[in-house]
Amino acid sequence: MRRPLVAGNWKMNGSRADAGKLLDGIFQGADSVDETEIAVCPPFILIPLTADKLARGSNVAWGGQDLDTHTSGAYTGEVSGGMLRDYGCTFVIVGHSERRSIYGEDDATVASKFKVAQEHGLIPILCVGELLEEREADQTETVVARQLDAVLELCGIESMEQAVIAYEPVWAIGTGKTATPEQAQAVHAFIRNKLRELNSTIAGGVRILYGGSVKAANAAELFAQDDIDGGLIGGASLDADEFLNICRAG
Ligand code: PEP
Repeated sequence: MRRPLVAGNWKMNGSRADAGKLLDGIFQGADSVDETEIAVCPPFILIPLTADKLARGSNVAWGGQDLDTHTSGAYTGEVSGGMLRDYGCTFVIVGHSERRSIYGEDDATVASKFKVAQEHGLIPILCVGELLEEREADQTETVVARQLDAVLELCGIESMEQAVIAYEPVWAIGTGKTATPEQAQAVHAFIRNKLRELNSTIAGGVRILYGGSVKAANAAELFAQDDIDGGLIGGASLDADEFLNICRAG
């Protein structure tokens, strides 16, 4: 039985005051969420505040939105996995489509980030997903398989025991266009079957989240699918009530 996980990706949003209010709201409501594991991924600079607020007895974990491939040294502007662990992060997002498309991260870089995250005791949330033109050209499975293979070749199937996968069709991120539950389930099943070819036990245990315009109104139907184990939530994670209602749908 896979425990559902709902993780909020705040992206580059929020002042310290906004984050404080949001965290207080999530902290207060999270007690009433039974089954679903909850996590928030704020911008780096808000992680210390998040750690302060959530470490005091909440059942909400936190994580980074990215990390560097290096451990320490002359990498101006970067943040390492060790630094994230030092601030109590459990998770780190790797390979978000915005990192891939805006910052040019290729599959090899994403795989290195996944590896270094695990070396620092973080659970990577590995994002995969196709562009609209790739879906229209019937390339969804090819793209997702290529993105997964980069990680599997570098880290092996065993690495998936301490990882989360997020299927995020790029055309659904921040657009208000959600994949239908059937479209999402088909790709989730493809991912799980691909892992099953390598190790059926690990494939059966890995959590595969859906991300792309999830809201409280559509979460339950998506999360009810056999291979959807929760969500990676962008915009809707900036509103505590909406986010908690998504968590309740898990
Ligand atoms: C995301 O940022 O990973 C995401 C899924 O965003 P949104 O929920 O806003 O589409």
